[in-house]
Amino acid sequence: MIKTDVIIIGGGATGTGIARDMALRGIDHCLIEKKDFAAGATGACHGLLHSGGRYTVKDPDAAVECITENAILRKIGKSCVEPTEGLFVRLPGDTEEYRDQFLYSCRKTGISTKTLSASKALNLVPNLNPQIIEAVKVPDASIDPFRLCMLNIVSSKRRGGKIFTHHKVIDIVKTRGQCTGVKVLDKFTSEIIEIEGKVIINATGAWGSQIAKMGGSDVPMTLSKGSLIIANHRLTNLVINRLRPSSNGDIIVPNETVSLAGTTSIHVDDPDNLTTDPEEIELIRTEAAMMVPDFDSIRLIRSYTGVRPLLRAADSSKGDRAISRGFQIIDHKNGMFSILGGKLTTYRLMAEKITDRIMEHFGLNERCTTATTPLEGQEDLAGYPVSKRLGKIEKVMCECELVPRDKVKKVIEETATKSIGDIQHRTRLGMGPCQGGFCTYRALGMMQEMGHVTPDESLDTLKRFLQRRYKGSRPLLWGDQLREEQLVEGIYLSLLGMADHEI
Ligand SMILES: Cc1cc2nc3c(=O)[nH]c(=O)nc-3n(C[C@H](O)[C@H](O)[C@H](O)COP(=O)(O)OP(=O)(O)OC[C@H]3O[C@@H](n4cnc5c(N)ncnc54)[C@H](O)[C@@H]3O)c2cc1C
Repeated sequence: MIKTDVIIIGGGATGTGIARDMALRGIDHCLIEKKDFAAGATGACHGLLHSGGRYTVKDPDAAVECITENAILRKIGKSCVEPTEGLFVRLPGDTEEYRDQFLYSCRKTGISTKTLSASKALNLVPNLNPQIIEAVKVPDASIDPFRLCMLNIVSSKRRGGKIFTHHKVIDIVKTRGQCTGVKVLDKFTSEIIEIEGKVIINATGAWGSQIAKMGGSDVPMTLSKGSLIIANHRLTNLVINRLRPSSNGDIIVPNETVSLAGTTSIHVDDPDNLTTDPEEIELIRTEAAMMVPDFDSIRLIRSYTGVRPLLRAADSSKGDRAISRGFQIIDHKNGMFSILGGKLTTYRLMAEKITDRIMEHFGLNERCTTATTPLEGQEDLAGYPVSKRLGKIEKVMCECELVPRDKVKKVIEETATKSIGDIQHRTRLGMGPCQGGFCTYRALGMMQEMGHVTPDESLDTLKRFLQRRYKGSRPLLWGDQLREEQLVEGIYLSLLGMADHEI
C-alpha cells in the first residue's frame, strides 16, 4: 500500500499544475492519470495562451485572470510559449459597435491593444482576407500544452512526487464516510493498487462528476464538445481571432509547423468516445477561410475534439457559450476537493488557489512560488520553435517536426513506454504534416530493439496508433489528404504487411 498526503486525480494542466505547486511547497503527493499527461481537454485544445481579449466584453473577471496569467507564463515557461501576439480582425459585417466595446473593455481589464489599418494588418499577415476592414493587436500567444504538463511534472518528480500515468482510478476508498484513498488499475499489467491519502483532489475536468460520484458527491457540470482542424502549413505567425462576439470557428493558432482552427460548442453527455461531425469540419473551415482564405484550398491533416468542463448555468436557455469560463473549487467535506472549469491559460492560478485551500486544511502556511519560479526542465527540451531545431540535428527520426533519434531514444529510456502517444507528447514526433506516416514504425522499431515491447506488443501498439490516426483524418478525407492517406495505407497495409492483421 502506497501512502501519501495528497492524491491528485487527473494529469491535465490543472492536475500537473497542482503537483508542481504541492512539490514547491513541500507537500507529499501522488498524481494518477488514466492515460498520458494532457490526454483530456488540455491536449485537445487550441493551445492559445489567451490575452483575455476573447472574454473581455462578456466576462471581464475571466479576462483579467487571462492577461495576468499570460504575463506570468511568458516569463516562467519560455520553452513552451511562443510569443506570437494576436490580431482580432474586423471583416465586413462585424460591427463598429462591438469594436468600440472591445477596445473599452480591454482598457478596463488591462489588455494592451493597438488598432491597425487594413494595410498594416496585411503587412503583418499577408494571407489575411484582403477585405479586412481593420485589426486590433493584442498579446495573445501560442502555448504547447503537452510540454507544459511535462514541465510541471519535472518539479514534482524532482521533489519525490509519485506519478502514475496509464493508471485509472476505479474506486474511492471510504472510511466512516471520509474519502481516504483510491483503487487504481494499471492499464498495462491489469494490476490493482491501493493508495492511501489524507486528501483527494479531483482534477479530472470533464470526468469530474464521475470521480465525485465515486466519493459520494454530486457536482453540477455541463459538458461542451469543441472540435478543431489542423492545416498542414503554418499559415500565419500571429494568432487570428474574429472581432465579434465569440462564435464558432473564430480562432486560428499557429502551432510550430502547422495551424489549428476551431472551434465549436456542442452539448454532450459523455466525455468519452467523441467524434468530429463532418458538419463541424465544414463550419470551421468556412469560418477560418473568412479570416485566412488559404483555409479553402489547404490540405487539412487531422481533426480532434475535446470537452470543456463548464460549471452548470443557472439559465441553460442561453447555451454553453454563455457559461462562465471561470473556475470553482468545491470542498465536498468528506476529504475530497474538486476543481472545475477554468482554462489552460489560468491553470497555474487554479493550482495556486486549490493548494492554498489544502494548506489551510492542513494548518500550514507555506506560500505559493509558482508565479515567480521558472518551470524546471526547460533546458532538456528540444528547441522551440522548430526553426531553433534546424542545424542542430544529425539523425532525424521525424522529418516534419525535426525530431532527432537520440531525443526519441532518451524518452523511451526514461519512460520505458509501450505507447507511441507517450513519445509524441514528449517530442512532437508524428505531429507534423504526415501525421506519423513515416516515423511511427521507426520509433516502434527502436522501442522493440531496446527491449520495451515484444514483436506482438509492437503490432498491437501500431494497430492502436493507426486506429487513432484514422479517427482523426477520416472526416477530412478528400483531395490531397485522401492521396496522403492512400500512401500511408500502402506503406502499412502492403509494404509492412498489416493487411494480414485485423485493424
Ligand atoms: C476544444 C477546446 C479548445 C480549448 N481551447 C483553449 C485554449 O486555446 N486556451 C485555453 O486557455 N483553454 C482552452 N480550452 C480549455 C482548456 O483546454 C481546459 O480548460 C483545460 O485544459 C482543462 O484542464 P484540466 O486539467 O482541468 O482537464 P483535462 O485536461 O481534461 O484533464 C483531466 C484528466 O483527468 C484524467 N482522468 C479522467 N478520469 C480519470 C480517472 N478515472 N483516473 C485517472 N485519470 C482520469 C483524463 O484522462 C484527463 O487527462 C479549450 C477547451 C476545449 C475543449
